[in-house]
Amino acid sequence: MLETLFSQCRIGKMEIKNRLAVSPMVCNYCEKDGKATERFMAYHEEKARGGWGLIITENYSVTPEARGFTHVAGLYEDAQIAGHTDLTRRVHRHGAKIVAQLVHAGRQTNHKMNTGVQPVAPSPIPCPENQEIPHEMTIAEIRVMVSRFGDAALRAKKAGFDGVELNGGHGYLIAEFLSSYTNKRVDEYGGTLFNRLRFVKDIIQDLRSKVGADFPLLFRISSHEGMPGGRKLHDTRAIAMTLEEWGVDAIDITSGTYGDGLTVPSMAESHAWNADSAAAVKKAVSIPVIIVGRINEPILAESILKSGMADIIAMGRGSLADPHLPEKAQKGQFERIRQCIGCMQGCIGNLGIDGPISCLVNPELGFEGELAAHAPPRKKKVVVVGGGPAGLEAARAAATRGHSVTMYESQSYLGGQFTAASFPPYKGELASYVSWARNELNLLGVNVQLNTTFTRQMAEGLKADSIVVAAGSTPMILDIPGIHGANVVLAQDVLMGKCEPAKSIAVLGGGLVGLETAVHLGWLGRKVTIFEKVDRLAPDVVSGVLPALLHLLDVYGIERVLNAEVLEISDTGVVVKVNGERKQYASEMVVLALGMNRENSLVEELKGSAGEVLVAGDAIKPRQALQATREGFEAGLRI
Ligand code: SF4
Repeated sequence: MLETLFSQCRIGKMEIKNRLAVSPMVCNYCEKDGKATERFMAYHEEKARGGWGLIITENYSVTPEARGFTHVAGLYEDAQIAGHTDLTRRVHRHGAKIVAQLVHAGRQTNHKMNTGVQPVAPSPIPCPENQEIPHEMTIAEIRVMVSRFGDAALRAKKAGFDGVELNGGHGYLIAEFLSSYTNKRVDEYGGTLFNRLRFVKDIIQDLRSKVGADFPLLFRISSHEGMPGGRKLHDTRAIAMTLEEWGVDAIDITSGTYGDGLTVPSMAESHAWNADSAAAVKKAVSIPVIIVGRINEPILAESILKSGMADIIAMGRGSLADPHLPEKAQKGQFERIRQCIGCMQGCIGNLGIDGPISCLVNPELGFEGELAAHAPPRKKKVVVVGGGPAGLEAARAAATRGHSVTMYESQSYLGGQFTAASFPPYKGELASYVSWARNELNLLGVNVQLNTTFTRQMAEGLKADSIVVAAGSTPMILDIPGIHGANVVLAQDVLMGKCEPAKSIAVLGGGLVGLETAVHLGWLGRKVTIFEKVDRLAPDVVSGVLPALLHLLDVYGIERVLNAEVLEISDTGVVVKVNGERKQYASEMVVLALGMNRENSLVEELKGSAGEVLVAGDAIKPRQALQATREGFEAGLRI
């Protein structure tokens, strides 16, 4: 079924064993001076081991000030070559090819990231995200920068990379020269498209003079820039055609810039959202076209190739979620592939604070081999209480290490709040994680007992060596008059279809759960108003997800009342103090999304009745599922 995906291909002289590539995705695992760390190498090696044909490593800085994040790799000095040579050796051991992506962040960085140095750009226009006016490069500075790209390419070749990719996408320096949105120069590097291409042309010439004519050269480009005046697909097609003429060996199609928020799509966006753009570019060139963007299933990848829309499928987050996706796909083990759910919590969310990336569905990311390294001293009898994300990971880790595990879940389904959270319109993919985990537990022989509330008496009877309490959290019910009325329901019950929503609804709480429940109800045609006690919505939502969520609130005409303290709930609506003024809002139903309280009463109950008791996830403190899966996994490792 996947014969195209697993057929060989070439980029220039580079032969690749299949058409699955890891797209460049910043992991922030290197030393501050750009040298490779063991963590960085192990992270990439795991993907090579998992069967990816090509790995395009992310954001190798071409100068010390080129960084967009503090712990990215660098090839701006010879001392960096040795560590990255170890990396290429380790990747090559598994039959994969590895290409270094060269980048200068241009205006999309700030002086704090780069030891006080002002960012540079073709024109002094600040990036909407970093908000720092960049220094306008002089002609002399452009020439030096051109040679820094060529020098870095030569170091990449010396380090054993199979090729290099110029990052001309996502609004970084090369993209800034290409776009009249950011390039307002009136010299030979600005104005017409040909002039805006001159920076790239100079880089290619310099690079070719240093690495030779046959060293594979890839070029990454955003098919379009979403802001007014940004580059569009027609320009991209013309650029791709010209780059082929100038000796580029493959075009890597992505989208967006920091300014338009289109670089990394959340679960609110469609799968393969760059496919039409890649197909349009492919018609204009004869070199391979690589496509990225929310492709997380092998059969989806195969369909894109078979449709002739692209030649190579790149997955960034898909490879974070499951480094062994190619191996499993080739064996036909589709149900064992752990799919990226587009949540943005561990990858984009962590990069937003310049931290190392992690992954909600793959708690071993960045700690590769951790599970195998923790062989248990003896087989133990383990009980996991709670079948939410923390409990699922605790049970999986403990069972993988050879323990005998029984899970007790009080509900009739696994997944806990994660299952309810999959019900809003664009969040269906969350179910794929629970479904995957259920299948893994089954394969590992974990005994799952649904509809069973675990008690102290059961603990005494079972005599387990270890009990992991991952009982999650329960909805917060505040002391508001009328809150126990018949017209008041929980957001989770509304989402899971346990109650019929009325025609007009007040949602109390403007956090993630409140907003998503409001969107769900709006989608069902209900009239919805959100009441939030502070002056902004969703401070707990990852920035990459928020714009889509706010857009959907608009689409469904959902009203928002901020600075709203709810004083009273009645059969006919809510009484609220808004900015000090008492107001009444009519609604037939009131939905509570006021936050969660940890559920750890069992921990007290178990004292003195059982062996080791560990606590994980929301039972410690309600937070994101990202923390829950990692803590559950760690609990499973400790036993
Ligand atoms: Fe995908 Fe979420 Fe993992 Fe990021 S954290 S790779 S979006 S599942």
